[in-house]
Amino acid sequence: MIRVAVNGYGTIGKRVADAVTLQSDMELVGVAKTSPNHEATTARRKGYPLYGAIEERMPAFEAAGIELAGHVEELVAAADIVVDCCPSGIGAENAPMYEAAGTPALYQGGEAADMVDISFNARGNYADAEGAAHVRVVSCNTTGLSRLLAPIEEAYGVAKARVTLVRRGGDPGQTDRGPINDILPDPVSLPSHHGPDVNTIFPALDIDTLGMKVPATLMHTHSVNVTLEEPPASIKAVRTLLGAESRLFLIPGNLDIDGAGALGEYAADIGRPRGDLWENCLWDRSLSLEGADLYLFQAIHQQSDVVPENIDAIRATLGTTDRAASMEATDESLGVGLP
Ligand code: NAD
Repeated sequence: MIRVAVNGYGTIGKRVADAVTLQSDMELVGVAKTSPNHEATTARRKGYPLYGAIEERMPAFEAAGIELAGHVEELVAAADIVVDCCPSGIGAENAPMYEAAGTPALYQGGEAADMVDISFNARGNYADAEGAAHVRVVSCNTTGLSRLLAPIEEAYGVAKARVTLVRRGGDPGQTDRGPINDILPDPVSLPSHHGPDVNTIFPALDIDTLGMKVPATLMHTHSVNVTLEEPPASIKAVRTLLGAESRLFLIPGNLDIDGAGALGEYAADIGRPRGDLWENCLWDRSLSLEGADLYLFQAIHQQSDVVPENIDAIRATLGTTDRAASMEATDESLGVGLP
């Protein structure tokens, strides 16, 4: 059994912790939090051992009647691997603690690429993570692009990818984020950070990205154009190629799903935990081939698409399983893959 610690139990951390408990080869040693908020009480209700992340704040848990199992350093020492799900930049501050304990660590997309040995996407570069001490699971948007571009590159070659990312202003719980009523080129100058981030997975890929931010919390939406080196005769072949990828959901036209709102309803209706969509959601009807140019729209559920990738990154880093077996085990345990 792989003993997994989760440090930082917020949007990503609580989802990763739940996913770890569903793996037959993993055990959740515990989760660490800074404050005794509603997520701390939920962790205890689920029976997860809870550790204090900041020593001076540990008495606040006791005052709130929330039992702690110890300090985060004890959690890290007891684990084979730690998944750091702290806010951007805190992972880098935590890295010396993981190193001192000799515990390999996974970080999230908010950390800088140059603070880790390798950036990770299961479909893109699974095998490269084995034996690394510091691995970064790339951001929600970069995960979505990597999953899409990997099979396209393998089958047809990518001469050039151009992507406009229409990004949600914040997650539903982030009441301090915006814009509230505006449409922002963000950043206004090219490239957005997403293209260079995709290059941490596919160094040779020619990709330009533009970013925007809009007043929405549900999902990101990508407008994608890929010029193919060797285009197929028809779009049918692309549909078959992408349809065979478990983490790409080709939204059938008959579902009448016109946007992120309907996707969220669909996810909740089919019983997805928290209404999560772990798959890229590609509108099948948007798939078009104009000469060598492939076009499509895809929506990315920012809060959950990186969850299966974190589970695969655990196995990849510790070298316990190969890519195909890990992705299959992760998909089956979570229920990833929509027809
Ligand atoms: P979050 O704010 O929802 O959760 C972070 C948690 O870490 C909070 O509970 C916070 O209290 C806790 N924390 C803060 N300092 C800590 C410390 N020193 N030790 C332990 N815990 C600490 O943030 P999030 O959205 O889950 O983001 C976490 C990481 O995941 C970031 O790198 C982010 O860029 C990345 N990410 C976020 C999303 C998203 O849409 N939310 C998507 C993909 C990747």
